[in-house]
This record gives sequence, C-alpha cells and structure tokens, in this order.
Amino acid sequence: MHSARRYFITAASILAVAANLFAQGIQYDKIEIKTEKVAPNLYMLSGSENVDPGHPDGAGGRIGVLAGPDGILMVDAQYLQIGDKVLQAIRKIDPGPIRFLVNTHVHGDHTAGNATFAKLGAIIFAREELREGMARPLTTARGAVDTRDPARLPVVTYGMGDPVRLRMNGETVELIPVRAAHTGGDTMIRFVNADAIMVGDFYRNFGYPFIDVTNGGSLKGALEALDQTMKIAGPNTKLIPGHGTFINKTDIIPYRDMILAVQGRVQELIAQGKTEDEVVAAKVTAPFDAKVPGGLLPANTGGGTSADRFVRMVYSQLKGAR
Ligand SMILES: [Zn+2]
Repeated sequence: MHSARRYFITAASILAVAANLFAQGIQYDKIEIKTEKVAPNLYMLSGSENVDPGHPDGAGGRIGVLAGPDGILMVDAQYLQIGDKVLQAIRKIDPGPIRFLVNTHVHGDHTAGNATFAKLGAIIFAREELREGMARPLTTARGAVDTRDPARLPVVTYGMGDPVRLRMNGETVELIPVRAAHTGGDTMIRFVNADAIMVGDFYRNFGYPFIDVTNGGSLKGALEALDQTMKIAGPNTKLIPGHGTFINKTDIIPYRDMILAVQGRVQELIAQGKTEDEVVAAKVTAPFDAKVPGGLLPANTGGGTSADRFVRMVYSQLKGAR
C-alpha cells in the first residue's frame, strides 16, 4: 500500500479534484493512454489521471497487450468512446492483427470498447456469466430500444475448471476462472513466461474493495480469489490489478487482513443488533483509512465514500449468509 504520509499531504487536493470530477462526469476527450512495458512483448495501457470520477487515479480499466509475430492478444477494452486512442496506442506497439480479446469482468470500464476490436477481427473470450451479464437487456428505461452493439459480446465462453490456454508469441496465456469475487464472471489472465498476472478488480489499491453483488460478486469469493492468487503467484510475479499500481503477492496479505478485520467488526455489530446505517456510522474502517488512498473519496456507485460502500457490502453479505 502507499505511504500514509504522502496520502495525507495530497488528500485535500484530491478531494477538491474529486468534487470537480463528479460535477463533470467522465471527460473522454481528455483521456490520454499511457503505455508501460512489463516484459519483452507484454504492455499495459492505462488512462490518464483526474478525468474519470470513478477512477481519479487513472481513467477506465487497464488494458493488457501481448504483441508479436503471431498477432496481438488484448486483455480488456476500456470505454467505447476512446477506442481510437486505444487503437493508436496499440499501433505504436505493433501493427499486426488484433486476434484475441479477453475480458477480466463485465464492467463497462473494461468491456464497453469490445465492439471496436471485434470489428477489427478480434475474437472475444470471457466467462459464460460475463456474456450473460452483457447480453441482459437494458432495464434503465421501460420499453427502451437496446442500442448496444451485439459485436461487443464474447464469442468464446468458458466456465469454472481448468484454465483456457492460448499459445502465441512464445508465451502461454492462461485464462484462469475465478469463483464469484468482484463479479460472478471474473477471469485472471496469467502470462506464464512474463511471470505476470492481470487479476482484474477483486484487488484494488485505490479506494476500498468493491464487490459487485448485483453482478454476482461475493465477499467469500473475493477472499478465496486473493488466496488463489497468492497460491499461483511466485515471489517475483507481477500482479497487475485492473486499476492502480502493480503489486506482488506479499501486498495481498495486508489487503486480505484488512477485509477480514472489517468483516470481524461488522459481524460483532450485527451480533449487537445494529442496523446497516448504524454499522456504516460506526466507521469501522477508521484504523485503515490512512493506508487506503482514495478510501474516503465518493464512490461512483452507492452514494457514499468507497469505505461506506464497502461496509454496506460486508454487512449485506454477512446478513445474507446467516
Ligand atoms: Zn470492475
């Protein structure tokens, strides 16, 4: 996790920026794509800071690009509105065909751009649950015509069980299914030779954990996913979250311990008969707030801070499990 002191110094300015960001929404025209090389043929693309209220640390979800003579494999596709910028960034790496696209999970900051790359010939891989989630009709307005492009839907789907393996560019890419964690259709993407794993969003180091139970995520599954990651990862494995900074397996321990501690406190308060609002008001994350950058910023869903959203989720998961 980041240094607490640096966080305190910048907290006030971050809050001011966040308030301004929420007023403006996602400023797609201001998003720039940054490219980072993590292995000889593996690159990570991320959006720039302070233009996406849900992700002030970097707009949208991170994209992975495995390049080489066998063509390109992409992990996730960012927002639809910035497809041209993502394509430009990929073209700077490699002019070859984009053959495969894998989605880590269903959220729009990772999948909304799918159609752009499908139309360039990419075959989209994802969990069956993810496809079901994306194919569900829009429910925002009664009788609304669904204008979403069917090209964005995964073509090849898989369930739990053995990883799907793709061999290309001297790399073995494993699509490792994760039991219901951040969502019900999470996949970790492991690049065996590069010793890197894109873990998606069940781990994050900006804001408190977000477990999307409306899309099939679960607290128990997220804890299992963290354990699974620690088992799979070697001491030098680069763990690459969908948002935030790269980590290695030892960084997962304090993160998991924080979740367990909050879970324990919420459990105690439930045993005392406290309501959800009373549990949120008890500020059970306080001992960790200084170590979680962005933890007290407004969350993009749920109407409170990311700490509040996290505590509400823990409460409802524990209540539901009784
Ligand atoms: Zn997500």
